Amino acid sequence: MLCISKLTRLLLIMQKTIALVAHDHKKPDLIKWAMSHKAELSKHKLVATGTTGGLLQKELNLEIHRFKSGPLGGDQQIGALIAEQKLDCLVFFWDPLNPAPHDPDVKALLRLCSVWNLPVACTTSTADMLVTSPLFIGDDYQRDIRYDRDQINIVNVDIEIAADQGFP
Ligand code: PGA
Repeated sequence: MLCISKLTRLLLIMQKTIALVAHDHKKPDLIKWAMSHKAELSKHKLVATGTTGGLLQKELNLEIHRFKSGPLGGDQQIGALIAEQKLDCLVFFWDPLNPAPHDPDVKALLRLCSVWNLPVACTTSTADMLVTSPLFIGDDYQRDIRYDRDQINIVNVDIEIAADQGFP
């Protein structure tokens, strides 16, 4: 049987930092989704953009670190967490049907998820599958985040070779 300190340590190891973001028309979907996964979410550290975080805090009654509102830089703050490898997962219900003033930030955030191989869910169905996956719940899945200087150099070398061969 595990003693309390070992159990606490295990829970801390398994604790992830999850970012939650939703555009205005998608906020009701995110609230509904978060309510249905409250038990799982409550085990982790939660961060969110300003307005999303405020709404979730009220509905879920969980502690959520709130960054600035998305259009005021909140998306970029979450992007910085990804680049600093301080984020484990992003639930980002962006709105495909309405233009956002901070569209470049939205693209940048999604781009960083790909750069750093971060699990990101942009729909309720993906988010359902993500937080119920054994790989998410367990503690032994190692995300490959080797996107280092060497790989960037390889890309640069390819570009130079292409240029040498008269590629446009
Ligand atoms: P908000 O930002 O939570 O402050 O509304 C979300 C976004 O638009 O990126």
